[in-house]
Amino acid sequence: MSPPSPERGAGDVELSERKRGSFTKASVREAPLDDARVLARVDFNVPLTDADHGRAVGDDTRIRAALPTIELVRERGARTILVSHLGRPKGHDLALSMSPVADRLGELLGAAVRVAPAVVGPEVEAAAAELAAGDLLLLENSRFEPGETANDPRLAAALAGLADVYVNDAFGAAHRAHATTEGVARLLPGYAGLLLEREVRELTAVRDDPRRPLCVILGGAKVSDKIGVIERFLETADQVLIGGAMCFSFFRALGIPTGDSLVEEQGIGLAAEVLERAKGSDCRLMLPVDLVLGERFDAAAERRQVDDPEVPDGWMGLDVGPRTVTAYSELIAAAGTVFWNGPMGAFELEPFAAGTRGVAEAVAAAPGFTVVGGGDSAAALAAFGLDREVDWLSTGGGASLELMEGKQLPGVEALRDR
Ligand code: ADP
Ligand code: MG
Repeated sequence: MSPPSPERGAGDVELSERKRGSFTKASVREAPLDDARVLARVDFNVPLTDADHGRAVGDDTRIRAALPTIELVRERGARTILVSHLGRPKGHDLALSMSPVADRLGELLGAAVRVAPAVVGPEVEAAAAELAAGDLLLLENSRFEPGETANDPRLAAALAGLADVYVNDAFGAAHRAHATTEGVARLLPGYAGLLLEREVRELTAVRDDPRRPLCVILGGAKVSDKIGVIERFLETADQVLIGGAMCFSFFRALGIPTGDSLVEEQGIGLAAEVLERAKGSDCRLMLPVDLVLGERFDAAAERRQVDDPEVPDGWMGLDVGPRTVTAYSELIAAAGTVFWNGPMGAFELEPFAAGTRGVAEAVAAAPGFTVVGGGDSAAALAAFGLDREVDWLSTGGGASLELMEGKQLPGVEALRDR
């Protein structure tokens, strides 16, 4: 979080007065909720861990992020039917049941949350019909139904039959045109949840109206995952700082040896194009100037630091080096706006976490407006205890990248206009 400044102080109230990206969709605040049956799509795609009795929620960040919308809907007296996907089940896989999620949600709300026996069907219809004002029903994992990812109109119609009003608060799934995110929104009056609206506003503000300089840090595994954002920000950002395994595609394109580092072959051509475009751009594209190497992808591996980006055979580049962290941190500190997606190295392995930690600390301390997106980047920030130190931590990985690229998100587009 930034120190108070004449333009912006700490805390939500003043933040909400900042000029933000425009949002043209109708809000859940305006929805006819009183006594209505509301189908709310939430993003409860959380990590599960094995517990004494079955499975438990490993990280409840996404459940907590949906609470304001759930509480608003309940307070207005609606009968609430929640739906989410969880993992990638093949059919009705009980290891990916929503049951542990219902338990955690119930604890957080201090209310009973019933899990429906399926996503749709006669038993679910009966359970939905029994709901009283303020009651909550969580449907089973939407991906138990093959029609979910296929956006099958029959599944969408069955879901729409359960409710009068649809609310989408699942920003993390909004880039997918699935039955619970898009199909059903075409059949019921659809409103934006509080989280989804805030996500779109914060990210759109960075994309369209950033305070300058705009410093973008991109890392992670693959160039191909991030190519759209790299190209977009080459046009609009002041600096793009590259880290993570992704940098090795750039080094290969430059003819610099990468040893046994993880290199995405398809990324080399993409990186070459980016390097070519960067020449004619006002945006400064930066690559790591030093590296930390390991003999293999293992915390116990032999480790060494090199003062240039060359990786000898028999070694993998697993982190950026300290000179890179210093150079990147200076630009982050001087930025009006910072957007970060993707770790700088294999941060899950403690000996190779320093680069990601250094960048995370620089982002946390930056006086500019700071936004972080991406599942692993968010996990890294949380692991360093810095997740509350940024202005906006997006719950959407793919969705935040697609929005940044300028793509339309089907789950947002399908909602009612204001
Ligand atoms: P995000 O989820 O934040 O978008 P990605 O999924 O793109 O990030 O990338 C995160 C993964 O990239 C992590 O699992 C991390 O271990 C891996 N990674 C980053 N740098 C390296 C590297 N130099 N070598 C191997 N893996 C790396
Ligand atoms: Mg990831």
